[in-house]
Amino acid sequence: MAAKRLIDIIDCDYLHPGFAGAFLLVEGPAATARAAFVETNTAHSLPKLLAALARRGLRPEQVELVIITHVHLDHAGGAAALMRACPNATLLGHPRATPHMIDPSKLVASARKVYGEEAFVKLYGEIGAIAEARVRAMQDGEELGWGGGTLKFTHVRGHANHHLVVEDSLARAVFTGDAFGLRYPALQSRGLFIFPSTSPTDFDPREAQASVRKIARSGASRAYLTHFGALEGLAEAEEQLLAHLDFSEKLLEEAVRSPFSGSELEADCERKLREYYRDFSESHGLGFGDAEWELLGLDLELNAQGIAFAAQKRRVKPA
Ligand SMILES: [Zn+2]
Repeated sequence: MAAKRLIDIIDCDYLHPGFAGAFLLVEGPAATARAAFVETNTAHSLPKLLAALARRGLRPEQVELVIITHVHLDHAGGAAALMRACPNATLLGHPRATPHMIDPSKLVASARKVYGEEAFVKLYGEIGAIAEARVRAMQDGEELGWGGGTLKFTHVRGHANHHLVVEDSLARAVFTGDAFGLRYPALQSRGLFIFPSTSPTDFDPREAQASVRKIARSGASRAYLTHFGALEGLAEAEEQLLAHLDFSEKLLEEAVRSPFSGSELEADCERKLREYYRDFSESHGLGFGDAEWELLGLDLELNAQGIAFAAQKRRVKPA
């Protein structure tokens, strides 16, 4: 029988249920199975990740790979804790991401500054260092034979300059991190609603569109989104993401010319983003109510911040 891949979606219950996940890949019968995680969420999620293993009858020793799409802490904040629990695992990431896993001091310092000590600990817990010998940087296009198939790593810019996506040949699936939008299950009741993450500090609309196209045309029939879950119909998602990124680019250009800066510019971008998505949801009959707008609120705020940040960067150094 041909090798078959099991993929479990783990809801890490980060901020809300159905908001951020991690994935467990398994191949082979439990006793001899090989396992890999894609994404780790935060250190607080470790019990959930280990429980997912146990549900498949697997031991942490059987985990061979821990893959992070990028270092943002809802993706990689729990990497050190998971690596400590899984003694045979190797951590794989983008060459610009892996140094921050070996020495997380800069990452931790900047998150502490953004969130403040109390919120930082509550959200992320402890972020430890991972021994260099257990970390491997994956080049663009690099392939790794694993578990009866091939994992292919592709560098994608636009959301973060140190972001990669992983294609699993056996599952015909691609793990997209934040490079193929956010699609919360709670917002799908009246049709597809998928939108890009344009959060600080690397947002680039053209690069983001190139990444979306690359992923949609990768040949994968299913995308696994960290936020959140499995997505089929990549072409429809691509079309919607490209449209939202067109608007994001227009907004960025306006913001470059805007008389506002700092928090005033962010507020202005957020107001325009809200207006845009309100129009979109109405014209597409998505019927969002207060609960849906509240769920979207955090991302709209972060997306506005990312666009304002990119605009101010361009004022200093035109792209
Ligand atoms: Zn991210």
